[in-house]
Amino acid sequence: MPTPTATPNPPTTLQTAPATTAEQRLAEIAARLDPCPAPATIAGYDRCPCGRGSWPCGITEAAWIARKLDPYTQARAILDDQLTTGGWPALTTA
Ligand SMILES: [Zn+2]
Repeated sequence: MPTPTATPNPPTTLQTAPATTAEQRLAEIAARLDPCPAPATIAGYDRCPCGRGSWPCGITEAAWIARKLDPYTQARAILDDQLTTGGWPALTTA
């Protein structure tokens, strides 16, 4: 019976050059993080659906900040929208 031989893994290479500027790092973070959907606050829910505490959670705020959006302004706009549309969150938040 032949002895199985291990095949070495190919060397790991980055697909792109590493981000070197703050602008590039923010863009990479924005590409990887999506804000969580807002809870139905008018129905009494104030917890982030991702289970990370109150909404907006740190991930949601980080996603907004990486997109150069102000977390307070974003949250306010979503809550105002819920007030005018009957309280159900929009399917997209960014
Ligand atoms: Zn969340």
